[in-house]
Amino acid sequence: MGMTTVAGRIGRLVGCAMFVASSAALAEPQLLLVNAKVFTADPALPYAQAVAVEGSRIVAVGSNEQVRALGGPKTRIIDAAGRLVTPGLIEAHVHLGTELPTPPLSMPNLPFPGPTPEQALAAVEQAAKTRKDWITAYVGPLVARDRRNWRKALDAVAPETPVYLRGFWGHTSIVNSEGLKRLGIAEDIADPLGGWWGRDESGRLDGRAYEAAETITSRIRPATAEALAATFGESQKRYARWGVTSIHLMNNDKSLEVTLAGLAAAKPQQKWTVYSWGTWQTTAQRLSEAWAVIDAAGKQSPAKVRVEGPKWMLDGTPIEQNSLQRAAYDGRPGWRGRSNFSDAQLREILQLALARPSQLALHVVGDAQTDRLLDMMEQLAPAPVWRSKRVRIEHGDGIGRDAFERVAGLGLVVIQNPTHLAIPPIAGKGMHEHDIVLKSFRNAGIPLALGSDGGPSEQNPFLNMMLAVLVPNAPAEALTREQALTAYTAGGAYAEGEEKRKGRLAPGFAADLAVLSQDVLTIPTPQLPATTSLLTIVDGEVIFADPVLTPAN
Ligand SMILES: [Zn+2]
Repeated sequence: MGMTTVAGRIGRLVGCAMFVASSAALAEPQLLLVNAKVFTADPALPYAQAVAVEGSRIVAVGSNEQVRALGGPKTRIIDAAGRLVTPGLIEAHVHLGTELPTPPLSMPNLPFPGPTPEQALAAVEQAAKTRKDWITAYVGPLVARDRRNWRKALDAVAPETPVYLRGFWGHTSIVNSEGLKRLGIAEDIADPLGGWWGRDESGRLDGRAYEAAETITSRIRPATAEALAATFGESQKRYARWGVTSIHLMNNDKSLEVTLAGLAAAKPQQKWTVYSWGTWQTTAQRLSEAWAVIDAAGKQSPAKVRVEGPKWMLDGTPIEQNSLQRAAYDGRPGWRGRSNFSDAQLREILQLALARPSQLALHVVGDAQTDRLLDMMEQLAPAPVWRSKRVRIEHGDGIGRDAFERVAGLGLVVIQNPTHLAIPPIAGKGMHEHDIVLKSFRNAGIPLALGSDGGPSEQNPFLNMMLAVLVPNAPAEALTREQALTAYTAGGAYAEGEEKRKGRLAPGFAADLAVLSQDVLTIPTPQLPATTSLLTIVDGEVIFADPVLTPAN
């Protein structure tokens, strides 16, 4: 078992074959974690027994004897009793604060296939007998794909009560006439940048709001910094108990300003990277406004918070059948979905990304949308330039195998959500038209990070890890435990351009780590979701400690 330390690295650089740091070469570490199975996610030294933390950094990784030798009188020593120590997990894609504005009606069969149209209408009719405030509910694909005029159907059962139905996955919303009236949405409303209003044959609004038009949720009850602080604070606690030390927040349905105020009020424990929705930062049809907002916000973000993006949704999903596919959707001859942006707009998005320092994130789901993106990227700049920009593809569900080489060449990072790999076939052929892909991304040299794509109740990284190592619908695509844990740590750091600072346990890296309750590299797969952290450390500071881990000197 080798020993690497900052001093050791310097030693190697100056040509010493074996340089072992003495404690005199370093200031005194405040913490030694010994007697552990340390998984480092560092190819130079994948496993070790002990880790030394000094200030906010890791200063040594090696054997018990080597690391213990660095301790001084004030050093705290924790005996991990053989438990797994891992780099802190990085949640690379989550949504927070996007709940419905009033408590939703309960609907059967969620998430898939969700209520039938008749079940949804009956529930609304029942509620409308007693309610005057907004009736809200989540619905699934059976309602989202039903082509009836939903405004008229809802008006028939709720003529005087505002009604708002939302696909649980976002991307589609339905409002009745009273709802449109209360929201101040008039017949002549223009389509927003990146979205559109559904209309019937006569051009009248049919109650559907697609993509960026969905910002109506926030108009019903605008997000407040106070409410967001509570949501962020609860999430931080939950994440700390799973050993998550960094969170990539996909910031939809609210402005960056209110999100940053909410984060500041929540007192960030983990490291947050906010990818803000481009369409939320623009008041007009000017794409560049989104970058201006992000550039300005990035300069005054709270401690532990970084601002990246913007994130643009280039298309919808196969669930509501709006992601742009090469082939027509089942049951809808000639319909291949649609793009949220014109060619000219997509070109401008990419040109702005080339010109500005912040990292571009793109929700791209349809295979044809991916082709269109790759074509335009290749036209606009050579591959090495794009590789330096490290553009993110959120989801990666629709990248055709024949496009892997181009995706790898352009240096695109795929953030995959293992929960998507378990979506049942009802979600639509589009989701399963191609092989489900996870391991093949890795084999093709496409950098991979993992995220839950969850709301507040679906964030468990170890549930996602279980899905990543099983891939129930395509077991050949399963990752090994080590690959999944690497994607959840070093992979997440790479996806946000922080791979030289965090995501590994190696000297000089941030002391972001977790001691896990069970060895996720060896336990039976069904036990994975029950994993918790016993000790979670961010920048050398303990943010969660289970009393079972007692100091031992
Ligand atoms: Zn998402």
